[in-house]
Amino acid sequence: DLGSDVEVDADVDDDVDEDDLLGGLQIDSTSEIEVPDRLVDQVIGQEHARDVVMKAAKQRRHVMMIGSPGTGKSMLAKAMSELLPKEELQDVLVYHNPDDGNNPKVRTVPASKGEQIVEAHKEEARKRNQMRSFLMWIIIAIVLGYSLIIAGQILLGILAAGVIYLAFRYGSRGSDAMIPNLIVNNADGAAAPFQDATGAHAGALLGDVRHDPFQSGGMETPSHDRVEPGAIHKANKGVLFIDEINTLDIRSQQHLMTAIQEGEFSITGQSERSSGAMVQTEPVPTDFIMIAAGNLDAMENMHPALRSRIKGYGYEVYMDDTIEDTPEMRRKYTRFIAQEVQKDGRLPDFNTEAIEEIILEARRRAGRKGHLTLLLRNLGGLVRVSGDIARAEDADMVTRAHVLQAKGRSRSIEQQLADDYIERRKDYELQVADGYQVGRVNGLAVMGEDSGIMMPVMAEVTPSQGPGEVIATGKLQEIAMEAVQNVSAIIKKFSDEDISEKDIHIQFVQSYEGVEGDSASVTVATAVISALENVGVDQSLAMTGSLSVRGDVLPVGGVTHKIEAAAKSGCSKIIIPQANMQDVMIEEEYEEMVEIIPVSHISEVLDVALEGEPEKDSLVDRLKSITGSAFKPEQVS
Ligand code: ADP
Repeated sequence: DLGSDVEVDADVDDDVDEDDLLGGLQIDSTSEIEVPDRLVDQVIGQEHARDVVMKAAKQRRHVMMIGSPGTGKSMLAKAMSELLPKEELQDVLVYHNPDDGNNPKVRTVPASKGEQIVEAHKEEARKRNQMRSFLMWIIIAIVLGYSLIIAGQILLGILAAGVIYLAFRYGSRGSDAMIPNLIVNNADGAAAPFQDATGAHAGALLGDVRHDPFQSGGMETPSHDRVEPGAIHKANKGVLFIDEINTLDIRSQQHLMTAIQEGEFSITGQSERSSGAMVQTEPVPTDFIMIAAGNLDAMENMHPALRSRIKGYGYEVYMDDTIEDTPEMRRKYTRFIAQEVQKDGRLPDFNTEAIEEIILEARRRAGRKGHLTLLLRNLGGLVRVSGDIARAEDADMVTRAHVLQAKGRSRSIEQQLADDYIERRKDYELQVADGYQVGRVNGLAVMGEDSGIMMPVMAEVTPSQGPGEVIATGKLQEIAMEAVQNVSAIIKKFSDEDISEKDIHIQFVQSYEGVEGDSASVTVATAVISALENVGVDQSLAMTGSLSVRGDVLPVGGVTHKIEAAAKSGCSKIIIPQANMQDVMIEEEYEEMVEIIPVSHISEVLDVALEGEPEKDSLVDRLKSITGSAFKPEQVS
């Protein structure tokens, strides 16, 4: 019952043309697409995150979601709240404490009982007040009557009546104090609560007690009536979502942690000098599931104890930025447009050409061949702007022209929002092609401390007008230069090509900050040699290793993570430095999947990586003959 399994409910061609932008949908406009009721069924892509959310909902675990803005983190958190059992929902009441007015009592009752209790108290208070009024008027009448008839003292009688009136009025205030304050109300009970506490200040997150300007003298509001719940209390039995978790101040993060640990948290005034700070309630339940979100930075900067709390008692999940472009997925993107139109409520439906244009845009924004962008908040923005333009023209349908116009308008915003760091990250995985390709090598790198990623390197060699140059794009320019310098020493010795007359272009395909790079030199060398000699490189192979000027392959860091990354990406063979063999500690599941090939010299790398017999053989032979001293065949396995 995951979103991904919910097929789009509309007519589909039996025999879908792979290239059909609508994925074979037989419709004239988005009006023919039915939008599923449950939010979890509306989520496009993010299969992994959805699985985790479903699992976490069952097991009541916390979740850490890392990913780009607008990929559905809060949507999933909200969807999770719809999946939680409604039977357990509670209302919370705060009562006056007759023994200590500054320590209000807290009672928890099943959902929707709270309103009834408050009503009952109000009714009682009303009756009591009626009784009092009745009593008051009787006494006033008696006093007045007595004064006028018996004593003949009109003035004294009126004075006495006034005193009695005030005494009753003042006294009746006390009975309001008996009405409890319903701070958490789940009477509507449609779903477990969902609280978004992103950017919340301390009071909104942890609860607060309002300041009372009349702190005494009978005018004051009873303290229990000034108690206000925080998101942690309102999220009880539901979901507390906090995006950009690292921006929460440390004190709040600590309190949040306490609430998670204890499952309850007293409410007190948050501003120190206010009268509310003297008040502290009994503990209020905070039994919520926390979904903390942010980008990679957020995770690093959040309170370590809070992070480990979530990690230890929950899941961490990474959001995808793109998804494979298949007919089924395009049908879902069509439904996405229908969803956004329905959500907005005022937009005209999209005709087929308009839908196609949005899907083309989803492709373009993916920045990755054969994929669609999952930055759907932005794409939804394009849907809305297109719809608004159509509406302004009084058009009854959004057409392609409207979308094109909208694209022009929303560009600058889109650029501001561009967060390509993470968008690119996923590109290294699941990117293995079969066969051979000239000048392209699957390199491996480490990001952070414990994740490997695949990082393809492309090289091209062109005749140079002047002296040959190494032209590197991407962020690893220095590494590229150095690797080429090393490899050129080797190339000079064996190649007929004069490398000094060539321009060598090296591209680290979508590299990003934080990649440690010297381990890419074997990869760069292989790519350059492949390009120079025009021999294909095996694309089911990945490699890592550092290269010496003599062609020795030297050890590098993070081999275990790199191997796992390569395996995850679907590589079947991985070249690593012989000296790193001892560091290999890959998980069992990967052992079956990949063959690990230890090497100690570049000639061995080429032997494994390059295509074809005659060219390669002569190339490898030449290499061996020149640098044979470094080549120890017995190390090849
Ligand atoms: P985030 O919390 O990751 O910043 P949101 O969940 O707030 O993103 O997404 C904003 C809006 O974009 C959603 O309300 C929804 O309309 C759309 N959206 C984002 N991701 C998805 C998705 N995976 N599937 C469907 N709609 C999405």
